[in-house]
Amino acid sequence: LTFLGIESSCDDTAAAVVRHGPAGAEVLASVVAGQVALHAPFGGVVPEIAARAHAEKLDGCVEEALAQSGLGLGDLDGIAVTAGPGLIGGVMSGVMCARGIAAGAGLPLVGVNHLAGHALTPRLTDGLAFPYLMLLVSGGHCQFLIARGPESFQRLGGTIDDAPGEAFDKTAKLLGLPQPGGPVVEAEAKNGNPKAFPFPRPLLDRPGCDMSFSGLKTALLRARDAEVAAHGGLYRQTRADMCASFQQAVADVLAEKTRRALKTYLEDAPAEPALAVAGGVAANQTIRAKLESVCAEMGVRFTAPPLKLCTDNAAMIAYAGIERFRAGTATAADLVPRPRWPLDATAPTMLGSGK
Ligand code: ATP
Ligand code: FE
Repeated sequence: LTFLGIESSCDDTAAAVVRHGPAGAEVLASVVAGQVALHAPFGGVVPEIAARAHAEKLDGCVEEALAQSGLGLGDLDGIAVTAGPGLIGGVMSGVMCARGIAAGAGLPLVGVNHLAGHALTPRLTDGLAFPYLMLLVSGGHCQFLIARGPESFQRLGGTIDDAPGEAFDKTAKLLGLPQPGGPVVEAEAKNGNPKAFPFPRPLLDRPGCDMSFSGLKTALLRARDAEVAAHGGLYRQTRADMCASFQQAVADVLAEKTRRALKTYLEDAPAEPALAVAGGVAANQTIRAKLESVCAEMGVRFTAPPLKLCTDNAAMIAYAGIERFRAGTATAADLVPRPRWPLDATAPTMLGSGK
């Protein structure tokens, strides 16, 4: 099966072509057009500007993806489009574009949940078998999900306040470092002592997989102010120590909560136990190493999809569309654009980024 995927739910316009054959899935083309420059003057994503930019860029992205794949519309078996959750104007632009192409080419159209796209990515990149455990850690998300099927996800817990990426970004800001904070704080931490500051490990004393990262930021703010009061400023080494101590606290919390989530996941005795981490924070070497060692300790395979398939893209949408199409569960109702669409209806999945 070969699907065209279309994504426009936030500030990236994207189109991709994915083929699913007997040997597995393959990304034939993936085009992402960002809008960073358009929104930069406003200090955040402006929904009206995003919707207009999506409407303008979608056709070009689709044409480019098809050209890159070397295929024409006639070679496709279907089209998948993000129908939510996200900024409604952008989602509508994408769904209208997809409807037009599907009707014109006489192709089936499948509406896809953007979060399901992220959650199914490890199947596209690493061929993971259901059920696998997914840890989503980015600037806007932090949650554990057991993926049991193309549309069966169980949320085990997540952050009750900030996402870790957000905490890295705020830490950088507090210490006078540039954005995005993650890579900069990680670089500083390389020269610092992770034991220098006894930052809290929030919620470790409580059962379950919920996490909290906003208290860490408050602790860091206090430590910084104490240093500035005592020395009239921050020593370079102190700043590195703060970064290292902060990063260690995040890594410790994620590792311990991952251990607990894995315990719950392993209760079902999966045949091929695996953990997939996705999101920008998964790029952090210290965090990654800790998670890998937890997996090794528990006999679970560790995977992390490449970053460009972890951030917003249309390959994951095309792939999720193929899975849904193969499962035969796609309905016309999936194509109704919606701003909110939790993966697991029993729990909120929208934290930080409004998803
Ligand atoms: P979402 O897509 O979930 O709404 P997002 O667009 O912010 O959120 P990503 O692009 O996946 O998510 O991740 C960006 C976040 O990852 C930023 O907060 C950034 O600071 C963080 N990050 C990137 N690299 C690192 C790193 N090496 N260590 C820690 N954090 C990192
Ligand atoms: Fe996303």
